[in-house]
Amino acid sequence: MPSFSKPQAILCDRDGTLIEDSHFLSHPDQIEWIPGVLEALKFLNTQDIPVFVLTNQSGVARGYFPVEAVGVVNGKMRRDAEAATGAIADFYYCPHHPQGQVIQYSYVCDCRKPSPGLFLQAIAHHSLDPTRCWAIGDRLRDLEPGLQLGMKAFLVKTGYGIQEQQELSKSPFYEQITVVSSMPEIMDLIQNESKMLNVTP
Ligand SMILES: [Mg+2]
Ligand SMILES: [Zn+2]
Repeated sequence: MPSFSKPQAILCDRDGTLIEDSHFLSHPDQIEWIPGVLEALKFLNTQDIPVFVLTNQSGVARGYFPVEAVGVVNGKMRRDAEAATGAIADFYYCPHHPQGQVIQYSYVCDCRKPSPGLFLQAIAHHSLDPTRCWAIGDRLRDLEPGLQLGMKAFLVKTGYGIQEQQELSKSPFYEQITVVSSMPEIMDLIQNESKMLNVTP
């Protein structure tokens, strides 16, 4: 088991990583938490490790749902997390797409992952040191901006993760990405580290 020091913060993808990716999810009733994730959020809360959710929501630009729907879904996720005594510290989303239908959101932005905009916003708003943060997601584009900023990166095998794993070898960051079964496995890495600290004479 590799060893990782406890992160300052986790910058995590939403669909396919925290909740099931049900393809342009736009209503709170469609939220289906991936098994173990709420418990993981609870654990991270006890460890004082904030979780920031960074999500591409091009369904807005594509005209599939209004921008307000993103906030409604995120709000429900936040309440679910709190009901499980976990927490989501903040959400950052990109509503854009270069080939969308809604003119207001249809352009090449600097926040649609793999562009780094969402990461830079979270880092600036919360004074994060990227070299002490972890990026977690089910697609390489969730990880590459974090890696470019010096974060550790974990690919989960939920969502598109299994497919993405096949593409991993093509990434220039191949050797820096740790593949885990799902978000809750990340907690084992943190717990292992605390155990190792405890046995230090
Ligand atoms: Mg995803
Ligand atoms: Zn954007």
